[in-house]
Amino acid sequence: KPQIGVLALQGAFIEHEKMLQSLGATCHELREKSDLAAPLDGLVLPGGESTTQKKLLSDLGMYEPLREKIADGLPVLATCAGLILLARSATRDKCPYPSFGTLPVRVRRNAYGRQLGSFSTKGEIKGLGDFPMRFIRAPFIEEAAPEVDVLARVDGNIVAVRYGQQIGLAFHPELGTDTRLHAAFLSMIAS
Ligand code: GLN
Repeated sequence: KPQIGVLALQGAFIEHEKMLQSLGATCHELREKSDLAAPLDGLVLPGGESTTQKKLLSDLGMYEPLREKIADGLPVLATCAGLILLARSATRDKCPYPSFGTLPVRVRRNAYGRQLGSFSTKGEIKGLGDFPMRFIRAPFIEEAAPEVDVLARVDGNIVAVRYGQQIGLAFHPELGTDTRLHAAFLSMIAS
């Protein structure tokens, strides 16, 4: 069984756990530094509020050990705020706490507006086809390095990428019923 660490400081982590468990994975909630000692095959960075998540990661001493694991190649599935945590840089983000910066993209935080920026649509994901996409005060990717694989765009804006073992999504597959992206994450880990 793949052992997946799910960052559980704040935000929509339980939904990821349910989906991954339904696909046969074991989930470990990461709430404090000592939770990082368990051997992990993969990591989920959930949606929520990236500023709060970044502050807690730093305050709890989890930032540096997690950054090292990701930089060393631990597979990551990051959604929404999680994507902001992975991104090398961000616009419209005044948060003083650091991002992991392991994904060479520039995100625009709250790219669709703060209040009215929540919507659902369908988009084509490379290798998967049509996929339901729910956006909640989401970022999008303004610019990606050439070596980043762009998996999906909505209205021309990049909303899904893969770079090495890191998958970054602006939307929330864990809030729907389509498990194909989580399954793809688990098969990326297995291969
Ligand atoms: N707006 C949030 C942020 O900037 C992200 C929203 C989400 O994760 N659903 O962190």
